[in-house]
Amino acid sequence: FFIALEGGDGAGKSTQVEALAEWIRSKGHEVVVTREPGATPIGKRLRSILLDVSSAGLSHRAEALLYAADRAEHVESVVRPALERGAVVITDRYIDSSVAYQGAGRDLSPTEVARISRWATEGLVPHLTVLLDISPETARERFTEAPDRLESESAEFHRRVRAGFLALAAADPTRYLVVDAGLEPEAITTVVRHRLDRMLP
Ligand code: C5P
Repeated sequence: FFIALEGGDGAGKSTQVEALAEWIRSKGHEVVVTREPGATPIGKRLRSILLDVSSAGLSHRAEALLYAADRAEHVESVVRPALERGAVVITDRYIDSSVAYQGAGRDLSPTEVARISRWATEGLVPHLTVLLDISPETARERFTEAPDRLESESAEFHRRVRAGFLALAAADPTRYLVVDAGLEPEAITTVVRHRLDRMLP
């Protein structure tokens, strides 16, 4: 069973990933917690290239391909093997982050960005994608962990990213759960648990 958490910076994804993993483990499942970019040795190197300030001028297509390369490696060496042995996999970011950031956020076609990722992952789609929806203003107040990362892009960029995520969720309501990231963390976990309770094997 494959779960993805998505959302803008400062949405609280990692807190939710941990809380959900603990709850699913308590139900007796093996849980693999993972993330993008950077879950594999090659992925860590790609992450450091992608997040380095000196990469600010990287061409948008090259950026999209590096995220896709990280994802291909991630799926082949971490996600698929775990799913094949019956584990529940929870990933902090997946294809939708590319569609929202490299597609909607930058000037690339979201459809084309999605197509690259479909190829990279051989079409592996999560059973449930949880979108923690956050406004750029709330994110700015809350995301103290790496404020420079938020500020390296314009508010307009973050608005486009948010709209990109919401458009994906609106197009496929059965596979998405959109939760207001402004709620208390415990309240968010409860909403997601409620949905998962009906879906988990
Ligand atoms: O989620 P995490 O903090 O690990 O993401 C690292 C950074 O990479 C974030 O600031 C996010 O804006 C950026 N990112 C991106 N495109 C993606 C995934 C992440 O620009 N596809």
